[in-house]
Parts: sequence; structure tokens; C-alpha cells
Amino acid sequence: MGIQIPRGTQDILPGEVEKWQYIEKTARDICQKYQYKEIRTPIFEQTELFQRSVGDSTDIVQKEMYTFTDRGGRSLTLRPEGTAAVVRSYAENKMYGQTIQPVKLYYIGPMFRYERPQAGRYRQFVQFGIEAIGSDDPAIDAEVISLAMEFYRNLGLRELRLVINSLGDRSSRSALREALVAHFQPNIGEFCEDCQQRLKTNPLRILDCKKDRGHKLMQTAPSILDYLNEASSEYFEKVKKLLKGMGIDFVVDPNLVRGLDYYNHTAFEIMSEAEGFGAITTLCGGGRYDGLVEEVGGPDKPGIGFALSVERLLSALDAEGVALPQEESIDYFIIALGEEAEEYAVPLLQQLRRAGFSAEKDYMGRKLKAQFKAAERLHAKYAVIIGEDELKEGKALLKHLETGEQTSVELENMVEQLKSGI
Ligand code: ATP
Ligand code: MG
Repeated sequence: MGIQIPRGTQDILPGEVEKWQYIEKTARDICQKYQYKEIRTPIFEQTELFQRSVGDSTDIVQKEMYTFTDRGGRSLTLRPEGTAAVVRSYAENKMYGQTIQPVKLYYIGPMFRYERPQAGRYRQFVQFGIEAIGSDDPAIDAEVISLAMEFYRNLGLRELRLVINSLGDRSSRSALREALVAHFQPNIGEFCEDCQQRLKTNPLRILDCKKDRGHKLMQTAPSILDYLNEASSEYFEKVKKLLKGMGIDFVVDPNLVRGLDYYNHTAFEIMSEAEGFGAITTLCGGGRYDGLVEEVGGPDKPGIGFALSVERLLSALDAEGVALPQEESIDYFIIALGEEAEEYAVPLLQQLRRAGFSAEKDYMGRKLKAQFKAAERLHAKYAVIIGEDELKEGKALLKHLETGEQTSVELENMVEQLKSGI
């Protein structure tokens, strides 16, 4: 057997790739409407960036990173997510000094995580994400959430559930932290090794554990919502009010903590409720990360964003039976018969394409009938037939393939005539 594709990755072939392009275009369009600008950062970064920003105690840093040493002895990592690099770039390029604030950015690109491949979980996957940095107005939280919801809506998803939570500010979280330690400590032996570690490093993360999700102490765990101080709870109330004002339905889940370490205040996930979607239902995750910019060496600036993967979005579209619109036809297929006609067809094809049409011809030396078949297979609107007889008269035959209607066109200025709508 020949060389195979690496585990957990996929080729996106023609036929399928059009869906990706459509989704990417939808993402770019909505970002334009909301005034988020594209940023492109490197595929790899210094490993330290992710250790510091994603957080040492997270699954990503603990076990999922593709880390390697380059020939210069530096430790580099293929980016497992997008926020860290965007925030690094924001600080490094001093975007906090720009006149337009907050700085609103988006990215679309591949991310890499060494995970156990399964449905909805790949080792290379494409994320679309946005970040709004520089404002702590609850209205920007609401905007970020609404952009994600609108994006899915525009693509035709309907069976969505928005779950939100507040992780509060630092003081609210440290109060919760103590309560969590008191809650889990006596029985921590019944939890997985990771959770035993988390109890020491970051007890909040225990709530996000996939292995111990069903443990009864999870259900009775202290709720962050009981530990929010006044400012935090006021912030959360404002976000909820703004969401309601936009007609966006949501549920509050106090156990939602998200996978990265630097989240505070608003955290949210969007799930698919479509039947048959499978076990992994989270399509999009996001939240506020007010300490992150400082952590990577910038000034103390607040930020919020989300990330979603195209792979899970495609599964959700499938599960809901939504078909994305696809451009499937071409304008002209040139059928040239004979050497002389062939010589005429090649520049004609060029002119048609230059004039903005999609056009194709035969390259397989097919006979007339087979060329018509080829034109049909490409869903050509018209066939342009140039045979020896036509050529002598300086004409070509234009055939509308659906109706069968035929017109004769002068070869001279043909493209001009076609453009003016013959
Ligand atoms: P999960 O809990 O499913 O592992 P996560 O918390 O690791 O998700 P994030 O880091 O928040 O995910 O990434 C945001 C989104 O990216 C997820 O909601 C999901 O849609 C998608 N995603 C994450 N990991 C993968 C993967 N390995 N393959 C495909 N999509 C992924
Ligand atoms: Mg994960």
C-alpha cells in the first residue's frame, strides 16, 4: 500500500471543498458587517506562548500539543488554537495604540492538537474565531455571542442551544476556588489523576473534566454564581439583558468553565441540539479573558472572543439536513471539431474567460457525441460548436443545452456578442 494520510487529518476534495469555501465566505461577510478585520499569524509559535496563555494545567498544554525543536534548538509548537497568537500579535504590534478601539480581529485557519481521533475530533482542524480586545463593555460580550449565533443562522442551522455562565472577576474566582477545594478534597481519591492534579493547580478545571463528568460531587459542586461579587454579578446581568434585547435565547449553566485558563466573566458555548449529532455537541466556545494580554507581555487590556471549528459545523449541517448552496454550472463548453477549429477554440476560450465567463473545452480528443456528454457533465449552459463547415462560414453554433435551442453566431467579435446577451 502507498503512503497514507496522517491519522486524524483529512483531504478536502473538490465536491466537498466548495462547502468550506462557502462557509469561509459566510464568515468573512459577517465579519465585514460587524467590522472585525482579518489577522493572519504563523502556524507555529514559541511553545512558551501557549504554556503561558492557554495555561499549563489545561489538556491542550498537558497532552495535545505538537511541539518540536527546530534546528536552532528553539522549542516551537504548531498552534493548537488561535487566541494566543492574536493576543501576542496585538501586544507585539502595539495595537492598543491604534485609533480605532476596541481592536476587532478574526482568523480562519488550521489548528493542531494531538487528540484521539473520532467523529468531530481531528488532529488538524480549521477554526474560525474572533477577538475583540480593549473594551470591557458588556455590549461587546453580547456582540461577540451574537456574531457566532448569526453566523450559524446565516448558514441555516436552527437547532442550537446557547449556554452561558460567568466566571466572575479574580476575587469572585478565588472565593469559589476555596469552596471547590473544600468540596472535592475529602473525596478526591475517587476522581481521575488529572483532577487530583487540578485540585492543586486549578480546581475550577475539575468542573470541565470529561472523565468524571458523572460523579455525584459534580452535581453538588459549589456554583460560581453564588460566589460572584457585586460588580461581577452586575456585569453578568447586563450581558444577559443585552442578549434578551436581541432576542437571543440562552440557558445559564454554572458548571460551564471552558478549556483555557485565563477566562473570566462571560463564558459561553453553542451546542447543536440536532438529533443524531453525536456525543460531542459543542460547536463553538468563547469567553472573556481579561488577564491574557498582560500575560503575554502587553498592557492590561481586556478581551473577549470565540472559536468554532468548520468540521463540527459541517456535522451539524448534516445532522439538520441543511444543504449549502453550490455553484455547479459553467457558462460555455466549446466543442471544436478538426484541427483548424481547435486552433480557433484555444484563444476563444481565453477570451471568454477574460470576459468573465466560466468556460471549458475538451482535452481528451473526444468525438462530437462524447464532447456533448462532457459538456453536460459540467452542467454547461451553452455549447459553442465550431465545426469545419461553420468555420468556413465564419460562424459557430450556440446551443442552449437545456432547451436545445440553437443560434448561429459570427465568429468575429463573438465574445462581444455573447457579453451583450445573445
Ligand atoms: P472539546 O471540549 O470538544 O475538546 P475544546 O474545549 O477543546 O472542545 P476549544 O479549544 O474551545 O474546544 O475550541 C473551540 C471549538 O473548536 C470547539 O467548540 C470545537 O467546535 C472545535 N474543536 C476543538 N477541538 C477540535 C478538534 N480536535 N477537531 C475539530 N474541532 C475541534
Ligand atoms: Mg479539547
